[in-house]
Amino acid sequence: MIEVLGVHKSFGSLEVLRGVSLDVAAGEVVVVLGPSGSGKSTLLRTINHLEKVDRGYITIDGDLIGYQRRGGKLHELKEREILKQRKDIGFVFQNFNLFPHLTALENVAEVAQLADARHFLERVGLEDKADAYPRQLSGGQQQRVAIARALATRPKVVLFDEPTSALDPELVGEVLDVLRDLARSGTTMVVVTHEIGFAREVADRIVFIDEGLIVEEGAPEQVLDHPVHERTRAFLSKVL
Ligand code: ATP
Ligand code: MG
Repeated sequence: MIEVLGVHKSFGSLEVLRGVSLDVAAGEVVVVLGPSGSGKSTLLRTINHLEKVDRGYITIDGDLIGYQRRGGKLHELKEREILKQRKDIGFVFQNFNLFPHLTALENVAEVAQLADARHFLERVGLEDKADAYPRQLSGGQQQRVAIARALATRPKVVLFDEPTSALDPELVGEVLDVLRDLARSGTTMVVVTHEIGFAREVADRIVFIDEGLIVEEGAPEQVLDHPVHERTRAFLSKVL
């Protein structure tokens, strides 16, 4: 469903992704772990073309993201086409990114029909908060609205960038519950998180990234309990 092939990305002289390849199957849940600055957010951002890759390519369900091939060359798509592609790619940010002047329902209805917006608010358990503004909601509720909005375009995949790390500890659980539900219902997901318990329980596969490279990947038990690489061990010893 998601194919990332040989992706390189630099910011100035800093090479942040140094040849990342990752395949995610339909319905698969991949959790990405890695130290701060290792390129996790950049990887997610390249998948929906918020960052352009320098080399390599990305496809979703066979569609080349951000580019089209013409005469053997890649040409960047027009903004309108890119926006259309992004409807296939839900993205949930650390800081919710809701419009403060719109209600919960209006935030979701920005990208969907009203009936759909209601449906997805229900899906995250917030039908009774439809008319509340973000400032009237807890952080966990705001993030659930953001998840409803990400789902409302009926994307093929959903990317989560540390969806719980801006939350007070007591609010983390309600957001992880929503992610767990989505995973169970067959949503194709890539989740950057430091919630190791969640990763162990929900991930089909864990990918450990360090300094712009995938160092190690495998089933949760394999990566968490029997890491092969020194880098993975060092990282886990800090977060476990
Ligand atoms: P964290 O766990 O702290 O979120 P991360 O693994 O998500 O880290 P990235 O945000 O992908 O890391 O950043 C990787 C590196 O790229 C960092 O050194 C960061 O400062 C740099 N970087 C990211 N975005 C930009 C940008 N737009 N311009 C310049 N440098 C950037
Ligand atoms: Mg990040």
